[in-house]
Amino acid sequence: MASAIRIDGKAKAAELSEKIKEETAALAGNHGIKPGLAVVIIGEDPASQVYVRNKKRTADACGFHSIQHSLPADVSQRDVLDLVASLNEDKAIHGILVQLPLPDHLDEHQITQSIAPSKDVDGFHYINIGKLTAGDTADAFVPCTPAGCMLMIEDHLGADLSGLSAVVIGRSNIVGKPMASLLLARNATVTITHSRTKDLPAVVRGADIVVAAVGRPNMVGGDWIKPGAVVIDVGINRVETEVDGETKAKLIGDVNYDEASEVAKAITPVPGGVGPMTITMLMANTLRSAKLAAGLVD
Ligand code: NAD
Repeated sequence: MASAIRIDGKAKAAELSEKIKEETAALAGNHGIKPGLAVVIIGEDPASQVYVRNKKRTADACGFHSIQHSLPADVSQRDVLDLVASLNEDKAIHGILVQLPLPDHLDEHQITQSIAPSKDVDGFHYINIGKLTAGDTADAFVPCTPAGCMLMIEDHLGADLSGLSAVVIGRSNIVGKPMASLLLARNATVTITHSRTKDLPAVVRGADIVVAAVGRPNMVGGDWIKPGAVVIDVGINRVETEVDGETKAKLIGDVNYDEASEVAKAITPVPGGVGPMTITMLMANTLRSAKLAAGLVD
């Protein structure tokens, strides 16, 4: 019998989206401002197409001005940089997102860093990374996935994590490192682990908070989890499974949910946990950017 609370990311994201919609309507009504989100997608990667479609649909549902630029896979670096430069100048656009990964011939670093920090709603620009790392979380655009994870952690442990130990599995710039910075800013004692960590299960067993962002299906077993821990599973892994003699694809996380939910206090499922929160945080960042541009944030 599972005992952990199942953290419903879908419900939390829906609740947050409602607030964003209300604030967006108020911004339009009181100030005539509509948050503007521009999404740039390059090439035909099917997973990216799905992500971008969902982002546009959510932005439209929030009442944003949302535009999409679809560029061919063989677009030149210069053309991408020119497009970003024009979006940087566009007063109707408050958030710019270039969907990753990019085709191999493009310089991802140069493109990401060409987005104006004030419109960098993905939080990938070095200015925003620097602010976050310096503990200036209120002023930075924080990457959407860890920002969403943090809200779910707060729901279960409060805003001050003093005295609690957090282990982040994975050290990517998109998830692991910013997640660790956010946890540190909330006074948790943070350990970042990765593929070269020795005896990972033993390290994870000491954690009151576990955030797994690896990309290895069911890697974290129930016997890795400290009783009463809060477990956030960022991993999204597509695996093949047999259903009534048919092979079907399904999504699972980095944590063995059934095992871990026997031990944890609260745990996110995959799907329906971190994923829905990520898109909602993108909307939250874009709304905040629009307010900042209008001088409506202290
Ligand atoms: P990444 O490949 O950039 O980083 C993976 C990290 O895992 C690396 O730091 C690596 O050192 C570590 N790692 C690899 N093997 C390991 C092992 N055996 N033990 C411990 N650490 C190991 O990936 P990412 O972009 O950070 O994404 C991680 C996962 O999260 C992926 O499954 C991705 O699809 C998912 N993701 C989900 C969302 C969401 O919205 N839910 C957003 C971003 C990423």
